[in-house]
Parts: sequence; structure tokens; C-alpha cells
Amino acid sequence: MLSILEAIQNVAHEHPHRTAYQTNNESLTYGELWHLSDCVAHYLKGLDLKRQQPIVVYGHMSPLQIVAFLGAVKAGHPYVPVDSSTPSERLQIIIEASQACLLLKTEALSTHQSVPVVEVSDLVTQTTNISTQPSTWVQEQEIHYIIYTSGSTGKPKGVQITADNLAHFVAWMHEHFPLQESGVFLNQAPYSFDLSVMDLYPALVSGQTLYAITQEQIANPKALFDSLATSGIRVWTSTPSFAKICLMNKEWHQALMPSLNTFLFCGEVLPISLAKELMQRFPQASIFNLYGPTETTVAVSYVEVTAELLEQFDQLPIAPLSEPNLSLLEDGEIIISGPTVSAGYLGAPDLTLTAFPTIGDQRIYKTGDMGYEKDGYLFFAGRKDFQVKLHGYRLEIEEIEKQIGNLPPVSSCVVIPIYKNDEIVSLSAYIVLREPLTDSAFKMTKQLKALLSDYLPSYMIPKTFKYIDTLPLNTNGKVDRKGLAVMETV
Ligand code: AMP
Repeated sequence: MLSILEAIQNVAHEHPHRTAYQTNNESLTYGELWHLSDCVAHYLKGLDLKRQQPIVVYGHMSPLQIVAFLGAVKAGHPYVPVDSSTPSERLQIIIEASQACLLLKTEALSTHQSVPVVEVSDLVTQTTNISTQPSTWVQEQEIHYIIYTSGSTGKPKGVQITADNLAHFVAWMHEHFPLQESGVFLNQAPYSFDLSVMDLYPALVSGQTLYAITQEQIANPKALFDSLATSGIRVWTSTPSFAKICLMNKEWHQALMPSLNTFLFCGEVLPISLAKELMQRFPQASIFNLYGPTETTVAVSYVEVTAELLEQFDQLPIAPLSEPNLSLLEDGEIIISGPTVSAGYLGAPDLTLTAFPTIGDQRIYKTGDMGYEKDGYLFFAGRKDFQVKLHGYRLEIEEIEKQIGNLPPVSSCVVIPIYKNDEIVSLSAYIVLREPLTDSAFKMTKQLKALLSDYLPSYMIPKTFKYIDTLPLNTNGKVDRKGLAVMETV
């Protein structure tokens, strides 16, 4: 199997003028991607850093971020992608936890950081005699990237993905999905989410064009749909939540995007109603429901959504039972084995041992997802713990509770997911304050949300805050989450 870098190098040599990356106002060819990332690698090699010391890459959907990713791995360093929407305290926690030695940025960063900060554009030059040798590149068993995801201990945890994990994932994508024919791939998920890897590397190793859209465009429907109409996108990768937002626009259908023939969904439940609507609007497209956590490199299984499947079940399966790397423990928890199982959480050996035990002679990942088997398929049946997906984002309720609990006015707190039609639509925080409210609840909520925004990204901040005298307990003496959830439904 060719390594990811070898495959991209081949494309860069054979098709240097082909577009690798396109946004509504910037683009990058394969020749530029290869050369500019060599410049970054050359700079990094000159610093004489410890091999494999992580490098944070901070920004949002910029072509120079991709340049920085490849530059880091060409110099033998894993990169830690951090989206520029990340609050400063959280960025600092990630820098400290990863023991990163440097931060490469493509966006302004106002706060002071504990590591040297370097602008990627300052490192890239048109000088052509810079190149790197494969011997310095990240090797098979070394770490290629580290993605930080919400952690129940109150701090995000860094999932380490090796070059070998990634190569197996990309090979699996190419084996199972129609990705080889030439075309444009949507690049929508920010790089701090591993869903972005689903389009990034499968597109680059096969010389396709990535079409990136920014949060700013997503917030402006006119700009978004204007871009989508001219993008020529053939392969669409997103969370179901993002497709749901697009479906709100009646003009989003095959005539607007005539080349679109493949939908790849992952990261949360793909509702039947959404799949049906997509089938009607995009009659030429195949729709795939992929499943997998960050800890096993993006996705490990899939089913193609067909009219028969939609008729047969009231929930879409996540895998056929023949899928070799998925199985159920006795209690119904889904476990995953195979070559894409991560090297574990960076700097957290105990957490790693618990989540990645060895069963027989296989190292597996215990997903925390519950599953059940029916009519030849595996179905997702919710979580064992307090991890949830809200609008496609993975959140640990306990992390949110710990951060709210750390705020000076708060004594204790419980966060409850609010459901509508089996789907989590928002979060509600029940808070016991240290001192009784003297001012309005509205003002207190505003103050707490402002304090929280230093620590948590906006998608993790509960929508409603409710103030109570004590947290209700159930008969076991634990916080009565079920009781609070019932109160929310009435
Ligand atoms: P992430 O690490 O952000 O990719 O989140 C992984 C989690 O998302 C899994 O452990 C599941 O709980 C959930 N998930 C991923 N794909 C699916 C799917 N197709 N259907 C239902 N849940 C999913």
C-alpha cells in the first residue's frame, strides 16, 4: 500500500497544475501544495525539534492549513488541527495536553500562547530548490494527526491516528465508494472534526479537487447556495445535520448541483425522513450511511440507503452483519477491531487502557455505542454513557457540567439533553448557585454564558439555564437525570 504522502506526491508530479483545493476566493494546485508543504517541512526540520512532537495548526478552511498539515507530517510531526472558533482557554488546554512545541496559524490569534506562534504564509516561498526526503516523513507506525474530542473528565482528549491507520482508512474508502472517477469533493467539516478526513485524504490521494466552504458562508444561505451552484461538487460528505440545514432551501436539488452523485453521511443518526427527501431531490445520487468514531479513524462500516431499506426498517442500519471489524459485547456495546483502531489517547494511559482493551489477541476500541442485530444488519441503539450528538457535534455532558461547575457563582450543575422526535435538539442546564439570585435569572444566565465561552465552544454551551435550590436525587441517591428529563418534556 502506498503511503498517503507517496500517493499525493505522485499526483503532484503527474498533474502539478491540477486544482487540489478551492474556496470561493482562493485555490491551490497540487504542485503548489507539494512545494509549499516542503517549505513548511524545511522550516520545521531547521528547528531541530524532537521527532513526533505535535504541532498545532490553527485556522479555518484555508488552503494553507492543508499545506501546514502536510508540512508537519513531512517533517515527521503529527499535527493537531484546531479550528479558529475554539475558545482561547480550550486552545491552551490542548497545547498543554499535547505538549505541542509550536503553533502554525492561518488566522489571527489575539491571545498570548505558551508556545512559539508562526504564520504559515511567512514560511512559504516560491524558491524551488526546497524538498524533503521520504526518510524524514511520518512513518507507518508514527502519529499522523491528533484530534481533540470532548472528554468526560472535563478536559478534551487527544485521539492519536497513525499514518498506517489513515492509509487503511483511505484504502477502505476507495474500495467501497465511487471516489475514483474525477470530480469535486465537498469539504465542509472544520479540520478539528475527523469527518473532514473523510473527504480530505480520499480526494488528495486520487488527485481530486476539494471544495471548501466556511462557517461564514454557511451562516449566509445566499452565499452558500451561490457557491454550491458553481462548485461542480460530485461527492458530498457531511453530517446529516448539515444536509438538513441545506434542505430548508427549496432550491437545493439536483438541478442546482447536477454533478452530485454520491452522499456520504457519518457522525450521527441518518434519519429515514432525511434520506427519503434527499432521494427525491437528488435522484441521480447514491446515499451512504457510514458509521464510526474518531478513535477508529473516521468510519469503519456503511450501508447504502436504498428504497427497499427505507421500506423495510423504521431506522437505518449502520452495518451489515458481515462487517468483520464490528461486533457486540454481551451487554450490547459495539466494539471495533482492525487496522484503523487508534494508538490511544495522548498522555492518558489509563483512559487508553480502559477504552482500548485487548480481547484475545486483538486490540479493540469499546465505542460506548449500544447496538442490536436484526435481519442481517447492525443497528445503533444509543449510548451507554453521557456522550451525545447535538447538531452533529460530539459532546460529553460531563465535560459541560464540569466546566459550568467550575464557574465561581455555581455550586453544582446537571445538563439534560432535550429531545424532539427522538433527536436531541438542545441542552438545558440545571444550576444550583452558591448565593441566592439577587438579580434576574436572565442577567445571571448572560453572565454565566459569557464566562463559559472562554472554555467551551458555542455548540457545547446549553441553550437554557434553570436555577434550582437543590439537585433532585433518585432513590439510589444519584442525581435524578431521568426526572429532570421528564420535566423537560411536559
Ligand atoms: P465522532 O467521533 O465525532 O465521529 O463521533 C462518533 C460517534 O458518533 C459514534 O460513537 C456514534 O455514537 C455516533 N455515530 C457515528 N456515525 C453514526 C451513524 N451512522 N449512526 C448513528 N450514530 C453514529
